Amino acid sequence: MPKRPRVGILALLQESNTFLSGRTTRRHFEEDLLLRGEAIRQQMAASQHEVAGFFAGLAQADIEAVPLFVARAYPHGVIEAASFDFLLESLLRELEAAGPLDGILAAPHGATVAEQAPDADGHWLRRVREKIGPDLPLIATLDPHANLSPEMVAATTALIAYNTNPHLDQRQTGEKAAALMARVLRENLRLTQAAAFPPMAINIQRQRTDLPPLSHLYTAATALCARPGVISHSLLLGFPYADVAEMGSAALVVTEDNIALAQQCAQQIAREMWQMRREFEPVFPSIDTALDAIQTTDERILLLDMGDNVGGGSPADGTHVLHALAQRRLGPAWICLYDPAAVHAAEAAGVGATLNLRLGGQTDALHGAPFEAEVRVEHLCDGRFRESEARHGGFSEFDQGRTAIVRTAPDLTLTLTSRRVPPFSLQQVRVGGLNPHSFRILVAKGVIAPLAAYGPLCDRIIHLNTPGVTCADMRQLPHQQRRRPMFPFEKDAAWPDVEPQLQA
Ligand SMILES: [Zn+2]
Repeated sequence: MPKRPRVGILALLQESNTFLSGRTTRRHFEEDLLLRGEAIRQQMAASQHEVAGFFAGLAQADIEAVPLFVARAYPHGVIEAASFDFLLESLLRELEAAGPLDGILAAPHGATVAEQAPDADGHWLRRVREKIGPDLPLIATLDPHANLSPEMVAATTALIAYNTNPHLDQRQTGEKAAALMARVLRENLRLTQAAAFPPMAINIQRQRTDLPPLSHLYTAATALCARPGVISHSLLLGFPYADVAEMGSAALVVTEDNIALAQQCAQQIAREMWQMRREFEPVFPSIDTALDAIQTTDERILLLDMGDNVGGGSPADGTHVLHALAQRRLGPAWICLYDPAAVHAAEAAGVGATLNLRLGGQTDALHGAPFEAEVRVEHLCDGRFRESEARHGGFSEFDQGRTAIVRTAPDLTLTLTSRRVPPFSLQQVRVGGLNPHSFRILVAKGVIAPLAAYGPLCDRIIHLNTPGVTCADMRQLPHQQRRRPMFPFEKDAAWPDVEPQLQA
C-alpha cells in the first residue's frame, strides 16, 4: 500500500500599511495568532479561515496534514525588522523539524511589508522554496488585496486567491488549494502559472466583488479561462496603502503543464482589467453631503469611515464622523472607538457614573480632534466575542480588550475598546447586550470588509470620503516606490505591449 502523503501547513499573514508611523511587532502577532504544531489544528480547523480549508481538503483527500507554523496580526504598520526575523526563523525551524514532507500548503496574505523586506511574502516564500528544493509542490493561497510580485509567483507551484471581497470564501479557497495538492501528489499533475501586471490600481472603494463593475470583470475572467488546461485563475485587486514597487492590481492563471496558455490567459484578463480602468474610479460623498441626504430618512444607515479603515491598518480612533453626528443630532447612532485611556477612566468611575471624557483622536492629527463629552457609563466588560459565520478575514475569536459602553447626548452610544479591532463582526455591536436594530445609524471604520456583517442590517450604505491614513482617494497618498506611470495616479498612463512575468 502506498504511504499516505504528508503535507506541511504554513501561514504568515498581515496587511501592512506603510503610511503609518507605528510598527507591527511580535506582540501584535501574539495578540492574534502565533501558533505551531497541533495548536494550529485545535484553534483553526473549525474556523472559516483558509488554514481550516487546508485541513478539511487534506482530510477529504486522505492526506496527512502536518501543521507547522501560523502567525497572523491585524492590519497595522510595517513589520519591525527584528520581529520579522523572529517570525521567519521560527517558521523555517518548524519546517526543518517536520521530517520528510511531500508538499507544502502556505497562506501568505500578499500585502505584507517588513522593514528589511518590502515584498515580505515573496521573501518568505522564497526562503521556504530554498529550504524545500525546486521540486516539492508549494501551493499557496492569497488575499485578493495582495500586491502580487514576480517573486511570489516564482517561489510557488501555484497561487490561488479568494474570489470574494468581503472575503467569504477563505475556507473554500483553502479547500481548493488542498484539492489541487492532492491531484499533484496522486495524479502527478504538473502545474504552470503566469501573472500579468497592468500598470493600474483598483480603488479600494470599487473592490466589492458582488457588484459592478468588479463583478463584470470576474465574469469576464471566468469566461476567458473556460478552456481545457486552465486549472485556476485569480484576480489580485491590490492594496494601495503599501508604498512598494509591486503595489497594484494583477491577474494570475494556473494551467496544466502549459506555460503559454497560462501566459495568454493572464494577459487577456489583465487587458480586460486595463480596459475597464476608468470604471473603477470611486464615487463617494463628503461627511456633510452624506448627512444632508439622510437628515429626514427613516432608513437604517451604515456610514463607512474610509479614512479610518481599521482593516487597512488605521488608528481606529478617528472622530470626524462622531463630531458631525453629534452636531446634527442624527441619533440613535452607534460608533466604536479605540481609546484605552477612556476605558480606564470609565472603569475607575464605574457603571452608572457620569463623567467628562475626551474621546478618540489620540493617535495623530489626521483623524480628527478628540470628542469632548459628558458620558454615562452603561456597561463594562472584557470585550471578547465570537463569530461563527463566514465573515471577512475568517476570524472567529475576537478580543478587543477591556471595553466600556458609554452613552452621551444627543443619543450617541459609543463602544470604547482597549485594542484595535476591525469591524468584521456584528457581534462587536452586541457586546454588552446592545441591539444593533435599536440604532438608526451605525458607523463602521472600513470600506468593503464590514459589509458582510453590517450590510444585511442596513437599508442604505454610504462610503464617506473622510480624511485619514487610509483616505480612499489613493492619489493623495505620498507613494515613492510605486511604478510610474500608473493609473489612476497618472490619468493618461499607457500600457505598452509587454510580456507577462512567466513561471514555468
Ligand atoms: Zn483582504
